[in-house]
Amino acid sequence: MKNPDYLNQSVSSLTGIGSQTAHRLEKLGIRIIQDLVFHLPHRYEDRTRVYPINSLTAGMTVLICARVEFTDILPRGRKSLICRVSDSTGFISLRFFHFAAAQHNLLKPGALISCFGEVRHGFAGLEIVHPEYNIIPNPDSCITETCLTPVYPLTEGLKQATLRKAIKQALSLCNEENQLLSDWIPQSVLKQYRYPSLNEALKTLHAPDESVSIEALQNGSVPALKRLAFEELLAHHLSLRKARNKIKAWQAPEFSSDKSITEHFLRSLPFKLTGAQQRVIAEIEADCRRHHPMMRLIQGDVGSGKTVVSAYAALLALKAGYQVAVMAPTELLADQHFRNFSAWFENFQTKVVFLTGQLKNSQRKDVLESMAEGSAGIIIGTHALFQESVNFHRLGLIIIDEQHRFGVHQRLALREKGQQDNIRPHQLVMTATPIPRTLAMLQYSDLDISIIDELPPGRKPIVTSIIPAERRGDVIHKINSWVDKKRQAYWVCTLIEESEALQCEAAEKTAELLTEFLPSVRVALIHGRMKSADKEAIMRAFKNHQIDLLVATTVIEVGVDVPNAGLMIIENPERLGLSQLHQLRGRVGRGEGDSYCLLMYQSPLSDTARHRLGILRDSNDGFVIAEKDLQLRGPGEVMGTRQTGQMHFKIADLARDADLLNNIQQIGDILFQESPQAIQPLCDRWLGASTEYSEV
Ligand code: ADP
Ligand code: MG
Repeated sequence: MKNPDYLNQSVSSLTGIGSQTAHRLEKLGIRIIQDLVFHLPHRYEDRTRVYPINSLTAGMTVLICARVEFTDILPRGRKSLICRVSDSTGFISLRFFHFAAAQHNLLKPGALISCFGEVRHGFAGLEIVHPEYNIIPNPDSCITETCLTPVYPLTEGLKQATLRKAIKQALSLCNEENQLLSDWIPQSVLKQYRYPSLNEALKTLHAPDESVSIEALQNGSVPALKRLAFEELLAHHLSLRKARNKIKAWQAPEFSSDKSITEHFLRSLPFKLTGAQQRVIAEIEADCRRHHPMMRLIQGDVGSGKTVVSAYAALLALKAGYQVAVMAPTELLADQHFRNFSAWFENFQTKVVFLTGQLKNSQRKDVLESMAEGSAGIIIGTHALFQESVNFHRLGLIIIDEQHRFGVHQRLALREKGQQDNIRPHQLVMTATPIPRTLAMLQYSDLDISIIDELPPGRKPIVTSIIPAERRGDVIHKINSWVDKKRQAYWVCTLIEESEALQCEAAEKTAELLTEFLPSVRVALIHGRMKSADKEAIMRAFKNHQIDLLVATTVIEVGVDVPNAGLMIIENPERLGLSQLHQLRGRVGRGEGDSYCLLMYQSPLSDTARHRLGILRDSNDGFVIAEKDLQLRGPGEVMGTRQTGQMHFKIADLARDADLLNNIQQIGDILFQESPQAIQPLCDRWLGASTEYSEV
């Protein structure tokens, strides 16, 4: 078959694949023949050699060739069939829990068998449970294979053998002439990194010969795997750069800055901007003078003062006659922005509105109307801001806070919003989760990055201590004297993230206990299962110092700003990622006074956990912590993928392949300069239908 399109054909065109199998394959995302080629084994079995029985240890999965000594049904415990076999070096037991009489008859004393399975400790020495086996006529007919056996991820009803056959067929159709398997990575790059060709790499991974070790396949050090992982990461990087380049063809409103107004704004603030804030503002002003949409990310540690910088950008938009949308990940945070923006823009003849789920129908109608007709200048809300039914009059700027809570896809989809007469709004996104440079190549290459690397003056470092839960009594005592000094505190109950219900329950109990132990302290509770209106009421009361101690779940993680609250107790910190703990801790240390964070762990604390918490105690720098978190727990934690599930790779594993990101930018440049025609096919190959997510 030389038809270049065959890899594009449905899997049902292969022999042995009926509609039912095709349907099962579809559940694995396999529709066309090409998909089969990229469906890689998740592990391998080694049937390339026969192991002598005396060389076996528990945990090995091996092929042996042995003679049956005896076979017996053991009635004890769970009924099982035991068959003892031996070779010239020793003996081992085979155990079957499901067995037919026929099996008993086949495994007769003296019979020679080849047998494959995992060795483990049994009641009497080593055994293999439910091995695959064949009766063979003589030792020479014990068939070893020339390649490692691939084991593929399956789905219900799909057999390993069926999939292996289908993939074998698909591979036999592959050759260099096929467009879909072209090597889009330039030869010079393949050579420099000693990467095999795509064809070769795929063949190696589906059928590794004896020269490839199982360990190397498993730990990802095989060049074939590196090459594919690299190509996949590169495709993701390129797709974001494509999105970024596309902007150059887009129009955006021009915001020129008017000194008399911006200076009036700055003078009306209760503080002077830091140097870093001023620098970032200048970068934003330069962006907004161009005719293309700004796509800028502000990275700055918690408390570095990103909000006011975004407010400055909002001022530029308002002055040019445009509306501004401010999107926050939670209602709590949106409410806080609403109050800050309302205060900052009090004397600037603009209406700030809050589009929250809590509005009564009539109020909601009013807000929507004011947005649509343009009387509302600044519109604040959660992602609900960008629902179908919401219309803007003249949207010129979108501000997205705590961007890591929203996924890449959401961000790219948002670019298409608010388009009017081919003019698209500027975008400013903010995050307090510092991303190490290499990961930024992958996650943010569609954005320009500004960094606020300076905290407002007068902030004292937060003193962090690590204490066992047994000292809870002392801690409660400390709260008492803290509250006596008219200061406020947080008590954060963390539990396994997966169970919000349990987390809330724990917080409820803790709040009850603390209320009982601290009769003179005003204790309140806030958690994710409360109604938004109740949460807001509590937060407002806390801000107004009508509450001394706020018992909370991790809902308060992002953005909440109450400078008088300078003490935070975090229960079970050992269960959270360092970046998340750093975010939580960032709720304190926002005012002039001293601030403390007590990490109250459950004993016993493992060495690794102690080490991790130690990093947090010794550093207040989000970037340092993110780098360490990346080393210790992998990128999921740092990038917040657990919350958003945003980056999904077929082959690459960022924990394993992070080093591949080092050259991505540079190789991306080479592609854009030397073979731009390769970019789209590469993105299609790895991102499939989502390639065009920038068009969503
Ligand atoms: P984040 O960067 O974590 O979002 P915020 O924007 O919430 O931080 O700012 C934290 C606090 O610092 C707020 O109370 C804000 O008003 C205040 N702030 C911002 N910039 C300055 C500054 N230059 N000097 C003093 N306080 C500032
Ligand atoms: Mg913030």
